[in-house]
Amino acid sequence: MPTALVTGATSGIGAAFARRLARDGYDLVLVARDAGRLQTATDELASTHGVRCEALPADLAETVPDGGCATVEQRLADGVDLLINNAGFTTHAPFDSGNREDEDRMLRVNIRAVVRLAHAALPSMLAAGSGGIINVSSVAGFFPTAGGATYAASKAYVTALSEGLAASYGDRGVAVTALCPGFTRTEFHQRAGIPTAGINDRLWLDADRLVDKGLADHRKKRPVSVPGWQYKALTEVGRLTPRPLMSAASRLVKARRGRH
Ligand code: NAP
Repeated sequence: MPTALVTGATSGIGAAFARRLARDGYDLVLVARDAGRLQTATDELASTHGVRCEALPADLAETVPDGGCATVEQRLADGVDLLINNAGFTTHAPFDSGNREDEDRMLRVNIRAVVRLAHAALPSMLAAGSGGIINVSSVAGFFPTAGGATYAASKAYVTALSEGLAASYGDRGVAVTALCPGFTRTEFHQRAGIPTAGINDRLWLDADRLVDKGLADHRKKRPVSVPGWQYKALTEVGRLTPRPLMSAASRLVKARRGRH
């Protein structure tokens, strides 16, 4: 049985990955902070799909040498076939008056953990000449974003990192994909305290369908996956639009949505 490790597997997109991969017959290692919720998720998946499912509680923002990322790195060093770097979050506070530690935690989870876990997973994949890494990024990473600038910048990093790793290791049997969701119904916005009432219904994606499309693109060895016709169109328009115009559009969207 192949093994997949999924971070942020108790909710939203990570939970959808865990369900889909269990259905596909993967043994799973699931990572999140809430140990109780993690145990419930692993028990359910193991009993429903008959796969082996291990709970690995860890706070990926932690910097202690024997906890957080290090716990997950140790497990990855034993070898997995697929790594889903999914855990991530944003904040809602204005950049100038928000909590600096929150910004720093965001960078540790959204960037540092992604780099460290990919680094830990690669050696055994390269030795086997096969494996895959999906880094969950965001369409926000394609645009200059007024309000949520640190989050968007962190996702621009994740997409660029994934494209670089895909180019570096694709010919050695390891496929790397940045999965770039748009608005997806999960706990993400509620956790950050971001109001969603004004977001048009047509912009919302379903986490299970998003994951199906992301995995299909990954299996085709695509370095970047943008599910949903609306986001494909948006990113294509973004690619063709001069940057100053994009910044002006971003300011307008921010004013309408009231983000800082
Ligand atoms: P979610 O429903 O809030 O799930 C986040 C998951 O990450 C939870 O399982 C959470 O579990 C875990 N997590 C958070 N902080 C963690 C930490 N420090 N250490 C370990 N695990 C942590 O959010 P989601 O929407 O599924 O987000 C998944 C990914 O999609 C993120 O990278 C996000 O940036 C990206 N994304 C989401 C959207 C969207 O609209 N939803 C759009 C674009 C991109 P615990 O709280 O138990 O740790």
